[in-house]
This record gives sequence, structure tokens and C-alpha cells, in this order.
Amino acid sequence: MASASLLTRSFLLSELLSGMWLTLKYCITRKSVTINYPYEKGPLSPRFRGEHALRRYPNGEERCIACKLCEAICPAQAITIEAETRDDGSRRTTRYDIDMTKCIYCGFCQEACPVDAIVEGPNFEFATETREELFYDKDKLLSNGDRWEPAIAANLAADAPYR
Ligand code: SF4
Ligand code: SF4
Repeated sequence: MASASLLTRSFLLSELLSGMWLTLKYCITRKSVTINYPYEKGPLSPRFRGEHALRRYPNGEERCIACKLCEAICPAQAITIEAETRDDGSRRTTRYDIDMTKCIYCGFCQEACPVDAIVEGPNFEFATETREELFYDKDKLLSNGDRWEPAIAANLAADAPYR
């Protein structure tokens, strides 16, 4: 009996027709769920973990105090830091590199940082043509921070009540 019903449905092409009807219904009546990337972009969570950036204080001073916690916790060993003590007694990095080809975007560096200096910002459009371009140095990370600071600060503020 079951095989007769199957045979009838196959003969009448009912499954094909119902599939085509479903497609037609979505084409005509439903609002499009796709977006015209890169001209349109979807919403991102404040916790999105994108390209890294080193932040500064509003007076321009680097936040990073060269404690090396981020370097120690990085499971991919992607971070390399060298540091020295300045004349005023503050400790600052002389080298801060991230090998973005090793990074697994776990966010541990951001979590470990006591002064919110290293963060993973909202930028996800940093594909490159060569590996070398993904070896970030301190200048690159600081310039990322300068560029994305408004968005980074807004994301940190939005996430703060849940931390
Ligand atoms: S996101 Fe994770 S893997 Fe990438 S640099 Fe930070 S700690 Fe290392
Ligand atoms: S970025 Fe943060 S955790 Fe890493 S060395 Fe600087 S202050 Fe320490």
C-alpha cells in the first residue's frame, strides 16, 4: 500500500511541484534575508572577536604596561613582547608583535589584560595577499586602536554590565 502511494506521488510529481511552490512563495511574498555585502553589513555582537588593536588613554598615552600577561596566556604563542622601564619609572613595551597567522581568536589576551589595552575589535575585513602582512607590530596595533577606538569603547561599555 505504501509503495502504491509512493508510485502515485512520483507519477504526479507532487513533491517536485510542492517544492517549486515553496520556492515561488518565498520569492514573491517573503522579505529577502540576504544582504548586499560589502555595501550592507549585518549586526555584530559587542563580544565579536575580530582584528586586534592596542588602545590608548584619552591623553594619548599607551594603556599597555608591559605586564606580559597576554603573552603568557596566549595558547597559540602568537604574542611577543619586549619591554623597558622609562625615565619616569613607568614600564612600557619596546616591541609588541602578534603573529596573526597563529592567532585562533580565543580572546584570552583581552581577558587577561588588566588595563583593557589589547582588545579584539569589530574589524573582520583584514584579509591580506601575503603572510607577511599578517605579522602585526606595535605600530600597526596602535594604529588599529586609534582607528577603531570609538567602536571598541562602545562595545566594551555595552558588555560591561554582563561581566
Ligand atoms: S586571541 Fe588568543 S590566540 Fe589570538 S593572540 Fe589573543 S590569546 Fe593569542
Ligand atoms: S596588553 Fe595588557 S596584558 Fe598585554 S602586556 Fe600590555 S598590559 Fe599586559
